[in-house]
Amino acid sequence: MTHATAVPTVALHDGIEIPQLGFGVFLVPPEDTREVVEEALRAGYRHIDTAAAYGNERGVGEAIAASGLAREEVFITTKLWNASQGFDSTRVAFEKSLGRLKMEYVDLYLIHWPVPSRDLYLETWGAFEQIYEEGAARTIGVSNFRIEDLERLESEAHRRPTVNQIELHPRLQQRELRDWHAERQIATESWSPLAKGELLSDATIGEVAARYGKTPAQVILRWHLQLGNVVIPKSVTPERIRDNIEIFDFELDNGDMQAIERLDAGERTGPDPAVFVEP
Ligand code: NDP
Repeated sequence: MTHATAVPTVALHDGIEIPQLGFGVFLVPPEDTREVVEEALRAGYRHIDTAAAYGNERGVGEAIAASGLAREEVFITTKLWNASQGFDSTRVAFEKSLGRLKMEYVDLYLIHWPVPSRDLYLETWGAFEQIYEEGAARTIGVSNFRIEDLERLESEAHRRPTVNQIELHPRLQQRELRDWHAERQIATESWSPLAKGELLSDATIGEVAARYGKTPAQVILRWHLQLGNVVIPKSVTPERIRDNIEIFDFELDNGDMQAIERLDAGERTGPDPAVFVEP
């Protein structure tokens, strides 16, 4: 069995299937992105997570085109940057993303941050719904939305997001938000799943890893999978890229899942969505 077939999918509430493990490209330099994504595709990843703000959509598109894979064999996510929120500006930004990716559609389009102080995400979501109805995004979701933002969408929009991509790792487990998602069949997608690498020297993780003969990164990624989350680790290092997909041949037992649950400290590595504005 190849890695690609070993990666399970999560069914979204609109019927679209998302590969549970993807490959994140935040901070992958634009000039290296094609090569890094090609490495990921060779390792078996079929789900790539980029964003307009990462400046590397072009490299992602080039890697897919060069891979010889059919477009429908890969799942591509991109995101609308904060400065582009608003109805018309979203339509323009989306077309630019498609142009850079050289694709006719994306699989998942996300509002990158809610930016509550600008109060434009409802209007932005209206454009997302139109893009979805036109078939240019197979599914639509949000990122960094808080319960209050999701509640506003729920009461005022036509469509419910299928995904909320949030910072989530053993030090920031987001239990309340995960429970809220589960009640509404919104998939939880974990960004910075390794806490940007900071968790890899944690003693508990190290102990668990030694017992399974796995690396700390593999144990953390396996924990995400067993919670039911979609997970998108990033690495530019070929050995780590391959390491991070070798997580389908073992299972953490309940005791180890609980030991990792006890590491929750409510600690973010990234910005707080309540206040993050950066244009
Ligand atoms: P991660 O938690 O994935 O950690 C990446 C870091 O861990 C890198 O420094 C990488 O090093 C290192 N690393 C990866 N694998 C291993 C390994 N097996 N062993 C040792 N070190 C390892 O952080 P990210 O912030 O990149 O998050 C992942 C993805 O989530 C992003 O790429 C992006 O797609 C998404 N994201 C979304 C956000 C949002 O607002 N929606 C915000 C932030 C991220 P190296 O690369 O040098 O190998």
